[in-house]
Amino acid sequence: MDRPEVAGAVLDQWMNSWWYDTRIRVLVGGLCFLGVMGFYLETAIEGGEYGILLFVGIGTVVLIPLERVIPRHRMSILRPQLLTDVLHIVFTTFLGIVPLVFIFPALQFLRSDTLVQTIQTQPQWLQIVEALFLTEFLIYWGHRFTHVVPLLWRFHSVHHSVEYLDWWAGERRHPVDGLFMSLFTGIPLLITGFNLTDLLIVGLFNGLWDMTIHANLGWRLKFMDRIWVTTEYHHWHHSLDRQARDKNYAGALPIMDILFGTYHLPENQGPGPYGIDTHMPTTYVGQLIQPFLATGTRP
Ligand SMILES: [Zn+2]
Ligand SMILES: [Zn+2]
Repeated sequence: MDRPEVAGAVLDQWMNSWWYDTRIRVLVGGLCFLGVMGFYLETAIEGGEYGILLFVGIGTVVLIPLERVIPRHRMSILRPQLLTDVLHIVFTTFLGIVPLVFIFPALQFLRSDTLVQTIQTQPQWLQIVEALFLTEFLIYWGHRFTHVVPLLWRFHSVHHSVEYLDWWAGERRHPVDGLFMSLFTGIPLLITGFNLTDLLIVGLFNGLWDMTIHANLGWRLKFMDRIWVTTEYHHWHHSLDRQARDKNYAGALPIMDILFGTYHLPENQGPGPYGIDTHMPTTYVGQLIQPFLATGTRP
């Protein structure tokens, strides 16, 4: 199978369909959003034991049908390397989180009591907004470092090796890459002492949205361009095109890319094809090993 066909005809076709009515899209989008948020909040309250099952469940029930209805690129659900990405969902998350269980408690001594008290005496809404901006700032720079530091790029290139972007593909990530990002964003947050519930709310929202920004969804959501990262926005980040690479690092807030000069969202052009121009094995185990063998330089 060749690379997925870049939208054009597909896009015209669905934009002319009866269901491409703003009211219907808002209704469907709103219902999906509420459903997914409900699932996530329930998982958080229950303790998250069924996190992976719910993740797979949401993708199957909500995102797969949506990817059928409004595809960005024409490609089969059973596309190449699907199994590799499913294995990433099942094992990588686990491999990346286990070390944190030991690392974070050991770093508790870094917490500054004065800072914790100052932050926690503010109104809760303000803490949520601050937690969001701080998390986004850290995600932006952590992500940018994984592109420009050759050693980090070796691991992050696993995430970029996906040529068939869909909701499964977003979870393709090397555990070392995941661990680096968790520590890079987690340690400052630990020191500042934001309330865990606030961070959870931000984290849940980011996690939920992360599923849609990789999905094979053709929606444009233009009104969100400079407000919140959309599917199109992040698909550009995965582009093979040299003009587009090393751009759009933001996880949720495009303001970070605007501020630091990496905003890239062409008006009359869609992103793709995707991938990297260096070798990456197609198997799960191969992708775990490759970063340790590669040179790390990006042509
Ligand atoms: Zn990246
Ligand atoms: Zn991505």
